[in-house]
Amino acid sequence: MIVEMRRGASQSEVDDVLERAKSLGLEVQLNLGTDKTVVAILGSNTGQLSTDIFAVLPGVESVTRIMKPYKIASREFKPKDTLVTVDDVIIGGKKVVVMAGPCAIESEEQLNEIANIVKQEGASILRGGAYKPRSSPFSFQGLKKTGLELLEHAGKQFGLPVITEVVDPGDVNLVSRYASILQVGSRNMQNFTLLTKLGKIRRPVVLKRGFSCTVTEWLTAADYLLAEGNDQVILCERGIRTFEDSARFSLDISSIPVIKRFSHLPVIVDPSHAAGHYSLVPALAKAAIAAGADGLLIEVHPSPKEAMVDGLQSLTPSDFSRLMKELKAVAKSSGRDF
Ligand code: PEP
Ligand code: MN
Repeated sequence: MIVEMRRGASQSEVDDVLERAKSLGLEVQLNLGTDKTVVAILGSNTGQLSTDIFAVLPGVESVTRIMKPYKIASREFKPKDTLVTVDDVIIGGKKVVVMAGPCAIESEEQLNEIANIVKQEGASILRGGAYKPRSSPFSFQGLKKTGLELLEHAGKQFGLPVITEVVDPGDVNLVSRYASILQVGSRNMQNFTLLTKLGKIRRPVVLKRGFSCTVTEWLTAADYLLAEGNDQVILCERGIRTFEDSARFSLDISSIPVIKRFSHLPVIVDPSHAAGHYSLVPALAKAAIAAGADGLLIEVHPSPKEAMVDGLQSLTPSDFSRLMKELKAVAKSSGRDF
């Protein structure tokens, strides 16, 4: 249930709503908007309760049921867009944010070389995988803690916040000591133990869409993070599995305006994992911005043919440079800053 307080409702009126909910064994989440407060009343039995329980309380303007499975991620709970802030970078605002770097951190030289390039070309955040959950257990699994150290170092050296994936709930504290943003991979979107752990830290989280999951399942997974109090959540569309096999995955462009309609959370797009091939990445990246994405997560490698992971879908520095110029034009034509 969503309880919307009247504009100017007093703190004690808000407290009465919270106490009423707690006395019924329900959980609450507050959205302290600039002009009015909204309270989400959460619990498995809210469906059996009359909305009058809250509607009669002083200071309450309206009470509505959220009929969707996701609650805190919904626009009903928070009509205004969420802005996620990492140092001086804002994700979800007017400016399109580009996160770029190698799929996997391979060495200090490789990472520093690409960090320097992506910074020069205008990326705001450096990506790099230290824990690489691979389809095969015999493939390179990442440099792990050494990779985290290299990433933190490169970020500091080139003045870029860094994003990296965390796979194991037991590594959340470790990874959050090194990373500015923690990434949940597609294969872990419904790893609820991991999400609950990430909900308790005070670091932004990029939640990639599970490649077999609907938008509703994705937003419901986001609720696991939000319910624990972490409101710095960024969604990332990275393609879904369909009958079409001409690209690695099918980039669901429509999920971008759908998310914008039904959720307040920022959404970025990973054209690299969707495409699976470098030649398709620029078109998907431009389409994502034109469709309203708040940013991009792009794989770039100093020498893709030598990459240990995902070389085929990684852009060369010169391809990346060209794409950044094209993206600027697309962003400007869509009324965005770049
Ligand atoms: C990645 O970004 O490195 C990655 C593995 O992506 P996904 O989880 O979308 O497959
Ligand atoms: Mn990759």
